[in-house]
Amino acid sequence: MGSGAWAQGFRGGRIIRAGRTFLPTHPMRMRTSTLISMVLALSALIPGLRAQTARTLINNPEWVRPFPPFRMIGHVYWVGTYDLSTYLITTSAGHILVNAGLAQTAPQIATNVEQLGFKVSDIRILTATHGHFDHVAGLAELKRLTRAQLVMMAEDAPLLESGGQTDFRWGGDPDAAFESVKVDRRLKDGGTIALGGVVLTAHHHPGHTKGATSFTLDVRENGRTYRVGIMNMGSINPGVRVRGMPAYPTIGDDYARTFRAQKALTLDVFLASHASQFRMHQKYKPGDEYRAERFVDPKGYRGAVDELEKAYTSQLASER
Ligand SMILES: [Zn+2]
Repeated sequence: MGSGAWAQGFRGGRIIRAGRTFLPTHPMRMRTSTLISMVLALSALIPGLRAQTARTLINNPEWVRPFPPFRMIGHVYWVGTYDLSTYLITTSAGHILVNAGLAQTAPQIATNVEQLGFKVSDIRILTATHGHFDHVAGLAELKRLTRAQLVMMAEDAPLLESGGQTDFRWGGDPDAAFESVKVDRRLKDGGTIALGGVVLTAHHHPGHTKGATSFTLDVRENGRTYRVGIMNMGSINPGVRVRGMPAYPTIGDDYARTFRAQKALTLDVFLASHASQFRMHQKYKPGDEYRAERFVDPKGYRGAVDELEKAYTSQLASER
């Protein structure tokens, strides 16, 4: 989950699961806008309530809305839903799939892969940018469909194998739980996933989860090499205290280290775990022709990192 997605949940205006703290049991009987104003007004008035509202998991309709698959750059394709990123990276020796979305959208992803003319059975490697249900709940089903090897940053492997139960923030929350799945290979910072001449480098960018990961790869197009980043952005989920969580005391230092590392990373093509995080829908509409340059946005990347770092810094100050 990311804070952008959280905000979009409100914008989308469809609250699926009502809060266990103070929201009425049947929020759909109220006008959603009334409910939102109520929540916002209460949040402003009562300190600590913001954190409590965070317990409400909002299932964003944009997470499940289908989106036509398309070629992004070179051998990198979008096969995700409207907002949840799933990247297909094709090679001559089979394919790599980065992120799996929700359990209920796994069939969409499979259909998208086939719609592009590739075979789901040719997917050899599955991986993910972090172990929250909106990016990994579909892994179990996709692993059954593909029999692919599941590769994950070591620090998030326990999340996948416990079905989300070991998460420092959402562990024990049935709404954030998912079908557990066995990790076949664990990555370290700087580790690589190599297949058919394609090499993905895994960058450990912890904070959002303990094993949050960005991937970089080189894509040759138009006689030049583009540095592509599938970035896990340092957004902070509601209810997280960056001064330290009981199950994640070093979270603040990890976020700080991640922002430093991300600012030092030079990218041409900026992609991320959510479409909203790299403004995909401002850059591409279904049916637009293929352009290698479409997602080249080093400035947008830097700006997005800066914005999240500011949010982190101000939250850190407000927790003091
Ligand atoms: Zn997340």
